[in-house]
Amino acid sequence: MLNQQLEQRRQSAAPRGVGVMCNFYADRAENATLWDVEGRAYTDFAAGIAVLNTGHRHPAIVAAIQAQLERFTHTAYQIVPYESAVSLAERINALAPITGPAKTAFFTTGAEAVENAIKIARHHTGRPGVVAFSGGFHGRTMMGLALTGKVVPYKTGFGPFPGEVYHLPFPNAVRGITVEESIEALEQLFKSDIEAARVAAIILEPVQGEGGFNIAPTALIQALRTVCDRHGILLIADEVQTGFGRTGKLFAMEHHGVNPDLITMAKSLAGGMPLSAVCGRAEVMDAPAPGGLGGTYAANPLAVAAAHAVLDTIAAEKLLERSVQLGAKLQETLNEWREGFPAITDIRGLGSMVAVEFADPATRKPDAGMATCVQKEALSRGLLLLTCGTYANVIRFLYPLTIPEAQFDAALATLRESLQAATAEAAAV
Ligand code: PMP
Repeated sequence: MLNQQLEQRRQSAAPRGVGVMCNFYADRAENATLWDVEGRAYTDFAAGIAVLNTGHRHPAIVAAIQAQLERFTHTAYQIVPYESAVSLAERINALAPITGPAKTAFFTTGAEAVENAIKIARHHTGRPGVVAFSGGFHGRTMMGLALTGKVVPYKTGFGPFPGEVYHLPFPNAVRGITVEESIEALEQLFKSDIEAARVAAIILEPVQGEGGFNIAPTALIQALRTVCDRHGILLIADEVQTGFGRTGKLFAMEHHGVNPDLITMAKSLAGGMPLSAVCGRAEVMDAPAPGGLGGTYAANPLAVAAAHAVLDTIAAEKLLERSVQLGAKLQETLNEWREGFPAITDIRGLGSMVAVEFADPATRKPDAGMATCVQKEALSRGLLLLTCGTYANVIRFLYPLTIPEAQFDAALATLRESLQAATAEAAAV
């Protein structure tokens, strides 16, 4: 009843453009469990869209925020700075896969980090062009949308977007797009649309998040690094969704032995507090003049305190190893079940960034209906799952890496029931 009342109030008070997935309302949450206002418990495999790698309300993070709350909550870092932001930059500089001395600037959202990475890249190179990938997602601000390689629902009706942005096909084994084709498209772009000498940066997600958990092959990242080095172009890794242990490394780029020039990060960086960052080669980061970068809430003290506790927790609880273990277990389990579910067309993952993709068994066309049905069935059984993908036909798994093993196993059993129910529903149509 409470949920229904709140739903009615939301619909008259808030615009429909902020689409909302669930029709129940959060009351409280702890690690991998979320309770709604009517007392129903959900196992949270959405984790606030990849924000809660350390779970809801991790005690160390709550304690860090509480301690900071007792001292000060806002000074505006650009007016009166504080040590915690400096030491967080130092920690990130030491941990991030950047060649040579690194520097870090803080912002508030993932989209803002992306905006600033492009500003920095343009300033450093003095060039306008930016190359991104189809299926990529980089945020809902105007430049974020220009870079995003999916029109519906993100870009529809919102243009014009900032210019000089170009898209390449992202390699995709399911759809038969090879690394060679992506690189060939880049060479063609340099011939037909913009000369390499006018390109400031190439930006990619090492694993596309919203685009379907498509994993960039090492060969792609190596080839991009070579092209960038040849032409003085900067390579930007958007690690907003992949960062902080999701793929089994602190940063997904560490899987490839190739360092980008700039990395954007947000989401699980501060375990639920709004904080984002751009880390990059010091000489690149220092291109904009004082006053060129910033934001009133950038490096919010509570969020910075949380981020320190996140880094401590990832190390103390060996969450990178845990990410690898849980992801392997999930992929193995899905592979064991696969035979019984002909609509499963692909199971893939890097660490705990795991996805299952659906296609119509007869036509092999992407099957968004099946993904939505599995999601709906899981939700009715108390398991919160997210979909993704250019064709919305992928279920992605974003459980907290701190989830207790028994709860993880129970969620897998629920997932199997949900797959069975959705398969039965499809057969009945
Ligand atoms: N980049 C990537 C890779 C993302 O996944 C997202 C959010 N889904 C963003 C940027 C934008 O982040 P935010 O919503 O915090 O602006």
